[in-house]
Amino acid sequence: MAFSLHSLLKRPLQSIVSSTVCQTSKIHMNIESIENKTKSTDNISNNKNPRRIDTHHHIIPEFYAKAVEETGGDPSGWSTPKWSIEEAKEHMSHLNIETAIVSITAPGTKIYENDKKKGRILARKLNEFSNDLVKNNAKQFGFFASLPPLTDVEGTLNEIEYVHSTMKPDGYTLFTSYGLGQYLGHPLFRSIWTKLNELKSVVFIHPSEAPTPMVNRYLPQPLIDYPQETTRTASDIVLTGTRAAFPNVKIILSHAGGTLPFLAQRIAMAGSIPSLQCSRQSHQILTDFRSFYYDTALSSSIPQLMALLEFADPCKILFGSDVPYAPLPAVIDTTKSLDSFFQKNKIGKYKNLWQNINRGNAKILFPDKIQD
Ligand SMILES: [Zn+2]
Repeated sequence: MAFSLHSLLKRPLQSIVSSTVCQTSKIHMNIESIENKTKSTDNISNNKNPRRIDTHHHIIPEFYAKAVEETGGDPSGWSTPKWSIEEAKEHMSHLNIETAIVSITAPGTKIYENDKKKGRILARKLNEFSNDLVKNNAKQFGFFASLPPLTDVEGTLNEIEYVHSTMKPDGYTLFTSYGLGQYLGHPLFRSIWTKLNELKSVVFIHPSEAPTPMVNRYLPQPLIDYPQETTRTASDIVLTGTRAAFPNVKIILSHAGGTLPFLAQRIAMAGSIPSLQCSRQSHQILTDFRSFYYDTALSSSIPQLMALLEFADPCKILFGSDVPYAPLPAVIDTTKSLDSFFQKNKIGKYKNLWQNINRGNAKILFPDKIQD
């Protein structure tokens, strides 16, 4: 290769660490770190309640489960679990989750990609349900609004306008792709990003079915394809210049960014290959990737956490559980694994991160929702 990729990529990563991108968070971390000098590590060792804020937490209203079943079931090959408010609260209590920002997972309104009217009606019904849930349990729940399939641009813009002015959601759920494999940097979605940017929205990107067949019957898509779908759409957003064009949108990637922390430098090579004519240079691509928030849902093995912590901005890592699509015992295990990692790394460069991942970072991201 004619250029030194390492030298190209080394500089921006170092400069990002000392940049002011996350200045508010840094101040917050400093203040918290004083408080937490004893508290954070004590919390872990004494197993005190971390008062987690869960930004990856799904609800499944009965009318939605029925609609999924009637339209042929979840195309990812995953079965739709049972859900109730009571059970959700029980799960939260087991996991020390004080507040859950709830969302509808895939396929969501995509079950009606070929029927605009039904897609719009379902999005509205889901938002009304979520809004009622929050109104009746304000301390325990917030919500990311559902939108019609994004290929219905007019319907999506109308729903954003409606829920923003009437319900004040904590953000919006987008899926990784729509239509025939149109990822989120597709020009069709430009006006939607413009609107979300105007509103300075939080956007929660959740993986949805991949436009590829299942590997085999043992591997429903959420196990192997979902992480890659997150990587594909994040790369699409960045390499098309969409991320850079709409900097006010705060984007959360599910599951520690899928495979993004592992592949980021490889993908960033696109900015250094002249024949590709990519509008972003390698160091800009890495900066854009690091502007994302990353949740820890089902992603707390040591290799996953090490990759995430070495790549992401520590002010932008959020706790996620993925209940109830992941069964409670599995989520308890992954949560224990998260706690245990920071228990073993409570000194050194990861100190104080445990409390910020569980609560501090989300508190800054949702200042209207979380005030204490
Ligand atoms: Zn999920």
